[in-house]
Amino acid sequence: MSQAYVALGANLGDLRQTLESALADLMAWPGIRVTRVSSAWHSAPVGCEGPDYLNAVAAINTSLAPLALLDALQAIEQRHGRERPFVNAPRTLDLDLLLYEQQQIHSERLTVPHPRLHQRAFVVLPLLELAPELHLPGLGPLREHEAAVRDQSLTREPQALVPVLAG
Ligand code: AMP
Repeated sequence: MSQAYVALGANLGDLRQTLESALADLMAWPGIRVTRVSSAWHSAPVGCEGPDYLNAVAAINTSLAPLALLDALQAIEQRHGRERPFVNAPRTLDLDLLLYEQQQIHSERLTVPHPRLHQRAFVVLPLLELAPELHLPGLGPLREHEAAVRDQSLTREPQALVPVLAG
């Protein structure tokens, strides 16, 4: 089994319900075991109009190779009716593979660690909750990136996510 981290994000529809059913899908996926889930973190868009975001990170153990894991994440995104009419369009559900063991992967479909991981408070803060000692391959200790994202406004939701399969 390999340890990996997956980012979940939603900014269309019922955000909490989307993340909770995506977590349930992850838990039910053959070859994926969800070991821990961060708090849900809420961010209002800064400096522009647009829907709010809800984000979280899941720690998983998986028997899937990185590309097979990406296939699973994309299949779960599709189930949640993700449409991409234009680049950076709002999405119902976004799942990113953040880290896969200490591997560095640069292939056509997959870059790991996720290229913007260390620049996004909504990834760094939930990841710090789960693994404060984490080392990012090629980028050093995770906690050294906290200061750089501290000015990004982010609110930790007090209510934990509860995985629920969508009816
Ligand atoms: P996005 O719209 O940000 O979810 O990007 C989706 C595209 O990014 C897909 O075509 C993936 O093949 C590619 N991709 C590259 N690296 C990753 C990663 N670490 N996690 C998820 N998608 C990735």
